[in-house]
Amino acid sequence: MDFSFNDEQKMLIETIRAMGEKENFKQLAMDIDARAEFPHHLLGKFADMDLLGMTLSPQYGGGGAPALNAVLAIEELAKFSPMIAAPVFESNVGAVRVIDLFGTEEQKQAILPGVCRGELSVSVCMTEPEAGSDLTSLKTYVAEDGDDLVLNGQKVFITGGGEASHYLVYTRFGDIPGYKGIGGIIVEKDMPGFSFGKQEEFMGLRGMPSCDLVFEDVRVPKKNVVLQAGDFSKLMLTFDIERCGNAAMCLGVAGGALEEAKAYAVQRRAFGRPICEFQAIQFMIVDMAMKLEAARLLVYRAASGAGQGLPSVYEASLAKCYANEMVVEVANAAMQVFGGYGYSKDFAVERMMRDAKAWGVAGGTVQMLRITLASFLFGRRFDQRPGK
Ligand SMILES: Cc1cc2nc3c(=O)[nH]c(=O)nc-3n(C[C@H](O)[C@H](O)[C@H](O)COP(=O)(O)OP(=O)(O)OC[C@H]3O[C@@H](n4cnc5c(N)ncnc54)[C@H](O)[C@@H]3O)c2cc1C
Repeated sequence: MDFSFNDEQKMLIETIRAMGEKENFKQLAMDIDARAEFPHHLLGKFADMDLLGMTLSPQYGGGGAPALNAVLAIEELAKFSPMIAAPVFESNVGAVRVIDLFGTEEQKQAILPGVCRGELSVSVCMTEPEAGSDLTSLKTYVAEDGDDLVLNGQKVFITGGGEASHYLVYTRFGDIPGYKGIGGIIVEKDMPGFSFGKQEEFMGLRGMPSCDLVFEDVRVPKKNVVLQAGDFSKLMLTFDIERCGNAAMCLGVAGGALEEAKAYAVQRRAFGRPICEFQAIQFMIVDMAMKLEAARLLVYRAASGAGQGLPSVYEASLAKCYANEMVVEVANAAMQVFGGYGYSKDFAVERMMRDAKAWGVAGGTVQMLRITLASFLFGRRFDQRPGK
């Protein structure tokens, strides 16, 4: 097994670290959180650096890089803030990958080059008021009408809601029940009948656009269908790339928290000595590093296995589940190292703790991931519905 990065990957990491220093991303992260403002100004810069769409197909402006490169870039940027990493996440492991893998030629040409330039973005729209973990109960539906599909329904917690140019909406086709009736269509922001609810007020990830979507008789041309009813499994398989990106966010936040805690332990003094000389502090820091490194191996394995395609569902689920819990433990320990200052908004670890909590729900909860993992370990599905 080869655990080393190639020259391109080493250069990618170094370039992002240098940019973060030069542009003072630590301060930017504090400002984004305080003002709850998405860093739109980074889009042009990231596009110039070829960070946007680095994994998308080269014929549409992408870089054709393996998923691991995107994971490394997301991790490095998320050490400062997941909000700074968000454009790289969305353009490489988000819903746009579904269009790259399964979209029509026309859809790819219309969307992918704009995503690589930082001008367009695609939100993934699955969750509904009564269908989160139980996604296959979703009620949003399309009915055929000539060359159009007429879309009705509601989505909640949609990242990028109101800001993204395109929305990959998971919808039921007609009245086919269960997963067999679910496919994916592209809805454009300005389509009549498509509106947005109020911006969510989350505990962390402040600055991330997120809101409800409401579809009232939205006429969507049939050419906007990415995956037909019955292709639900393809939609979910592609989602495993997003899971690697989610886990990379966790590596980043935990890595940032570990760096903050180490630096603080060296400079903070108690009982006439730096607190890093107390074994209790050393062991907390060592445990943080140990958990982070273990998560890294799982996430890098899942992303490496994906290559330019899709990761194994087992590896991606394992990596996301472990990283989701690891980041909360590491951020929590970092706060403890900071004592009272860790609870203050003047220090980054307080924000990191709030940001850490999101990932074990977004992209599928750790409980649902365990259900997927159990089905692999036992070699059979466990239907969650009563009486099954
Ligand atoms: C920051 C953030 C960003 C998000 N971005 C998006 C997005 O861009 N697009 C999108 O579509 N959605 C998004 N979501 C929504 C997210 O995917 C859902 O919140 C998540 O899937 C859980 O669904 P729910 O909130 O309805 O919880 P529920 O499904 O109601 O679950 C409630 C609790 O019950 C548990 N539970 C449910 N069923 C079972 C079971 N069978 N066994 C054991 N435990 C169970 C869950 O694990 C959870 O702890 C986002 C959420 C957050 C917090």
